[in-house]
Formats: sequence, structure tokens, C-alpha cells
Amino acid sequence: MDLRRFQDIIAVQTNDGIIAYHSRNLEVAELSPEAYEQMAKINLRTSGIPFAQLNADEAAASLTGWQQEDNLDVKSGHIEFGIKSLTVNVTQVCNLKCVYCAAGGDGTYGDPVNRINVEKTLPQLKFFLEKLKDGSTFSLSFVGGEPLLYPEAICLIYDYVMLQTAGRNIRSRFMITTNGTLITDKVLDILRAMKIHITVSLDGESTINDQVRPSKDGRSSTALTVDGIKKLVGIKSNLASLGIAGVYSAKNLEVKKSYLFFKSLGVDWFEFNFSYTEKDMAAQTEYLSQMKEIAQLAWDAGGEAEFRRIKAFNLYFQTLDSQQRIENFCGAGKTFLMIDAKNQLYTCPWVVGEKDEIVGIGASLDLEKLDKYQKPLIELNNCQTCWARFLCGGGCMYIHREHSGDKHKKDELFCERTRSLILLAIMYYKRARAEQ
Ligand code: SF4
Ligand code: SF4
Repeated sequence: MDLRRFQDIIAVQTNDGIIAYHSRNLEVAELSPEAYEQMAKINLRTSGIPFAQLNADEAAASLTGWQQEDNLDVKSGHIEFGIKSLTVNVTQVCNLKCVYCAAGGDGTYGDPVNRINVEKTLPQLKFFLEKLKDGSTFSLSFVGGEPLLYPEAICLIYDYVMLQTAGRNIRSRFMITTNGTLITDKVLDILRAMKIHITVSLDGESTINDQVRPSKDGRSSTALTVDGIKKLVGIKSNLASLGIAGVYSAKNLEVKKSYLFFKSLGVDWFEFNFSYTEKDMAAQTEYLSQMKEIAQLAWDAGGEAEFRRIKAFNLYFQTLDSQQRIENFCGAGKTFLMIDAKNQLYTCPWVVGEKDEIVGIGASLDLEKLDKYQKPLIELNNCQTCWARFLCGGGCMYIHREHSGDKHKKDELFCERTRSLILLAIMYYKRARAEQ
């Protein structure tokens, strides 16, 4: 791939012509071959701004002119402290034993307390709900372990949030991440009433999923999950959305096969995540090559609508359409906190169980610790010269730390992967908007 850069502008030669992206202005446009020729060659690993010697011609003048333009429609991605999104560890125990589980291999994070105490959680939620500004959207996400091992808690928490926000100008969104193996009639009734966004974790067909996501009793988890998904598809009109998220690594590189399988299950969207612990460059190259293939397959099958069923691509399309810069990959410590089964607070679901990462308990916040999270992540992570910064937002601090030992020292593998996916989305964005 011949990728080039001039200051904030990158450009790539594609079958649709030369496509350029102005990273500060979130603009995608076609570029002349004359301008492209004068830009400096870069690759997807390059973060810095290379030197480009421009000619004194018309193409150079138009390139410089575009570089200097300020798109007044672009909105800042700065976010102020104010918690409006919480994730609750309803249970810290699971009925599966996934090989890559971030929660200690069994959902417990090594802790004997394995389910939330609802009586302690409701006053904690009250504390955050009371602080919400008029007109806010409040998001509550249920995770585990497997959260559907304790559906009664989900039901009580939902009822409480609805009661506390009734009569106020606050919109509540509920999300759940489940392995989909425990979808009983009672669970279906609860989910139906909540108008909830559901993410089912599944890594592909049984040949691979049973290996990486085995159940504790040795039964095929895939058969149970697929059965659960079918039941959820049956109540889809009562859900906010239903999607499947898979994890890929050197142990499972069946991304394309998964895409075709997930598509056959009738859900709304799919997510294909590269494992946060994987360090194998060859595995990442193969993953990216298959992401490219599924992008093409999706586009051929149904254009923009089908392409946007792939969650990462949809997010980039949304950002480009809304002209809303992303300066924070996530709201960790700014707008988002995680509640564990002991009502301790963390900035991220993946650090639960780490004493040094606790930033509060119950309704008490450690503001000194939280203060360290308040700058934009693109600044904290030194992403100022990366062309992908306003679509990426500085990356996941947890993944960075996992690879570099420091939350704010970037994982180069993550950066290359993110830039590749962003570039792919930009290419299809140009095609989609040209067709319009
Ligand atoms: S973390 Fe994201 S914004 Fe920062 S350098 Fe990497 S790709 Fe760019
Ligand atoms: S740091 Fe990463 S894992 Fe943690 S909340 Fe942010 S995006 Fe999620």
C-alpha cells in the first residue's frame, strides 16, 4: 500500500482513485495525482510528521491551502468530568472457562465475593444519578463473570434507575454483555422489558469456539450460545440492539468464517476484536487481511448498510458524518466508572481486583486519583502527531499497559491495527459518500 502524508493530510492510491483524509478537519476527499506525488511516503507504523518537499506549482498550492483550512463544523472532543456511564459487575463468577478470560479465568478476578449486593448498589447508583445534569443520557452496562447468573439483580437495578430518573429529563440506556448460554423464559421477560442493547460473546463456529470458550462441565458452549441467540432474535423487536462480539488471536484467526457464521444468525451487528494480550505480529497481519476481506464481502452484499453492521466501521462512519472529534478512546475516569461486586470503583473493567486501581467505594470517590485521568487521552498518550488521532482518541490505556507496562505508553501493535482499520473505513466512506 502506497500511503503518503503532508502535515495533517494523508492519501492513499485505491481502485476508486487517490483518497485523502484531513485528520484535523475530519474531511475525506479525492486528491490529484500531482499533489499525491509530492507527499512523503509513510507506513501504518509511522506516528510522526515526515518532511515533504513541495514544488512551486498549482497542486502544491491546493494541498497547502487544504492543510491550512479550518473546518468550522468540526466539534471538539473535549470531555468534562461527570460520571454518566457505569458498568456493574453483577456477578464475578461464570459458567464458562474461556482461555483468555480477563477476570481470572473463571470470572472471579480471584475474589471469593462472586455477586453484587443489591442493597449496597442501589444507594451507590443514587449518588451518581443525583449528580446527572438535566438532559443527560445515562448508560448502565451489566457484565460479569456471566451477569445472567443473577438476573434478579439486573431487574432490581433497572427498576431502581427508572424510578429514580422518572419525571427528570434523563434518558437511560441499558447494555449487557453475556455468553448467551442462560437465556431462559424468565431472562427473556426481563430483557424484553428493559429495551436493552445485548452483546453476545462468541468466537466463531463450534470447532473453534468450544476450544477457546469451553464450558466448565465440558458441554459444548457453542450449541448453548447459538440456541440463546436464536431466542434473542425472537424478541429482537423488543431490544435496542443485538450483536455478537468475537475475539481473535494466533489461537483463532477464523475472522472471515466467523463473519459468515454470525451473519447467518440474524443479529444486528458484529464486532471482531483482536485479543488485547496477543503480541504476534503475523497473527495481526492475518487478522487485518481478513478484516479487509470481510469489509469487501459486506460492501458487495449490501453497500453502506451492510458494511456498517461491522461495529468498528460504523463508529468511524458516525464520527466522520457527525464531524465530532474523538479525543478520548473511552471515558475511563472522566465520564465512566466500573463497579465491582464489592461496590469498589475503578476506571476500567479490566483492572478490577487491582488494589492500586481502586478510585472509590460506594458513594465516595478518590478525586485526587481521578484527577490524573482528566486530560484528553490523545494528550496523555502523546498522540498529537498521529494522523488517526481524532478517530482513535489515544487508544485503550489497558491494552497499552498490557504491552508497554505503562497506560500512557502506546502499544505499537495497537496503533498499527487501529490505523489500518481506520484507513479501510476511510476508503469505504469515500465510496459511500460518492455514491450518495
Ligand atoms: S493510540 Fe491511536 S491516536 Fe494514539 S498514536 Fe496510536 S493510533 Fe494514533
Ligand atoms: S482503558 Fe480500555 S478496557 Fe479500560 S475502559 Fe477504556 S477502552 Fe475499556
